[in-house]
Order: sequence, then structure tokens, then C-alpha cells
Amino acid sequence: MKPTHVEHIGIAVTSLESAMPFFEFLTGNKCYSIEEVADQKVKTAFFKVGEVKVELLEPTSPESTIAKFIEKNGGRGGVHHIAFNVNSVEEALAEASKAGIELIDKAPRKGAENLMIAFLHPKSTKGVLTEICEQPK
Ligand code: ZN
Repeated sequence: MKPTHVEHIGIAVTSLESAMPFFEFLTGNKCYSIEEVADQKVKTAFFKVGEVKVELLEPTSPESTIAKFIEKNGGRGGVHHIAFNVNSVEEALAEASKAGIELIDKAPRKGAENLMIAFLHPKSTKGVLTEICEQPK
């Protein structure tokens, strides 16, 4: 697929408020953006680490996939997904599909920070939930 770089690492947290001080300490940077993504039922907070970002994800509803992830993880957060930046999510999806990789999203959709995103199924990605994303043009 030839991604240009790792765009971000998604980390599920039970509470942004309680998690943010640690990530400020870890990255040495203040959170630069907090955004609610209504259709994914999450609130996100972003930190920069060089070119890579850390995306914290707090569920805003028990139906959120992040809430379910935390529940499965014994009530704790943890690494949820890795996002790779590509030039075209649409092309990358076609390529992945052709390679027999199961897709969660058959078409690109809008994610946090106005990125176009799509998820590949962990069944096909060695257990790592994989997001591919494209910068807004
Ligand atoms: Zn993400």
C-alpha cells in the first residue's frame, strides 16, 4: 500500500481528563485539539510526537466501539489502533480488497481532523486494528 508515514496511534482511555496529564508529560506537548466525532461516539484529544500523533479516544456512549474495547480490556484503556497515512484511501482500499484483506469500511468516511479514513479488519491484519487515512486536500 506504500503509506507515507504512521499518522497516529489511537489509544482508548476511560477519561480524557484523567489521561491527558500523562500524555502531556510523555510527549512533552500540550494537547492541541479536542474534538467529538459524533458518528463514532467518541471524544478525541491529540498530541504531537514529531510527525506522529497520539489520538486519545474516550467513549461518549456505552454503545461506542471504544466503550466495548475498554470493557473487554478489563475496564482499562490501551492501544486501540494504528493509522497509516496514504495518498488515497480509496486506492488503498481497492488494493487491500484485491489482496484479500477484509475491510471494515468499504468506502472512505470522514474522521477526526477532517481526515478521510477507513478501517481494515483485525482478522486480516494480524490482530492490529489498522486505520488508513488521507490528509484533507
Ligand atoms: Zn484513528
